[in-house]
Amino acid sequence: MLVDQGGVCAICAKAPAAHVDHDHDSGAVRSLLCFNCNGGLGQFRDDPALLRVAARYVESHRAGQLVGPPPGQQWWPTG
Ligand SMILES: [Zn+2]
Repeated sequence: MLVDQGGVCAICAKAPAAHVDHDHDSGAVRSLLCFNCNGGLGQFRDDPALLRVAARYVESHRAGQLVGPPPGQQWWPTG
């Protein structure tokens, strides 16, 4: 796996792959991640919807366009 990933994190592809990331529900190994990316997933509770909301939030701030959530949506998952 380390060789397949070129020795770098499967998310940022920059930092050394230092942690074996697991699906916390099934226990299955997903990939090798760096310290920061592995911790980031944990901070967002491995929740894809929350990670997408966070990405949109950061992008909107960078673009100086934060006026509220996209039409018909909320910044946070509702379900
Ligand atoms: Zn990383």
